[in-house]
Amino acid sequence: MLNISNQYRINRIALLIFIKFYWNLKLSNVMLLKLSSAKSPILMYFRKNNPSSFFNVTPTVDSILDRALSGADITELEGIILLQQTDGAAIAAIQTTADRLRQFQAGETVTFVINRNINFTNICEQHCSFCAFRRDQGDDGAYWLDEPIIVEKTMDAVRQGATEICMQGGLNPHATIGDRTLPYYLQLVSTIKTAHPELHLHAFSPQEVQFIARRDGVSYAEVIAALQEAGVGSMPGTAAEVLDDEVRRILCPEKTTSAEWIEIVGTAHRLGMPTTSTMLSGHIETAEQQMRI
Ligand code: SF4
Repeated sequence: MLNISNQYRINRIALLIFIKFYWNLKLSNVMLLKLSSAKSPILMYFRKNNPSSFFNVTPTVDSILDRALSGADITELEGIILLQQTDGAAIAAIQTTADRLRQFQAGETVTFVINRNINFTNICEQHCSFCAFRRDQGDDGAYWLDEPIIVEKTMDAVRQGATEICMQGGLNPHATIGDRTLPYYLQLVSTIKTAHPELHLHAFSPQEVQFIARRDGVSYAEVIAALQEAGVGSMPGTAAEVLDDEVRRILCPEKTTSAEWIEIVGTAHRLGMPTTSTMLSGHIETAEQQMRI
């Protein structure tokens, strides 16, 4: 059963999903129509199908939500106002708005993939403050999977219906072939694609791309293009945490800066590699920092 504090956390998460969803729309230009609110087809659609779509929470919240439903961009300040709402009615209105925007985009269709994560090593040169996964080489619990185990895990996933492998790992400075890091990562890709070429490989975060580029003295574009050529189909957007350097200096001071993360993801997009984006939120960051991208 949920206690009040858990319910509050879930509400905060729903709010955040709405805000990030909305900003992602803005960022990726997915929003189909940006017309004045009075004549917006989106708003007319909602008025017709949801006659109670005007929430009567507070004038400020109502106005932001109405503008969101009209297809207009909400501002950073408006996003902060929504994130700071604690009243149950306001939170319910934001959740309803998020659901309506989702419904407008995707209807009732839900899609999914069966995916297995293979974390090939937990040996990592960095020391993020939230990480219970990392080990130094030689520590109790440190591991580094060899090729037969990776193949076995892949085959086991396929037997269970997986169509996708997500592969990431610690930043292991010993993971090299001939003193170079990129060939080691390419070998990991080859191990999976040789065993099961039909699998989609969602692999290696912006942090790993930066690690490879730094160690081998090559550009992000060279790393991403080589991984793509070897068979990586998309890049997991982990290591984003909260893209605010003030937060990152406390959480993960050795990781990429916000600008580097964005540069790597932007490079992937330019090279035609799709990415996701994973936010680690609800810890030390403020609503203002959540809205900063
Ligand atoms: S880089 Fe990844 S594995 Fe390494 S300490 Fe940070 S979160 Fe953990």
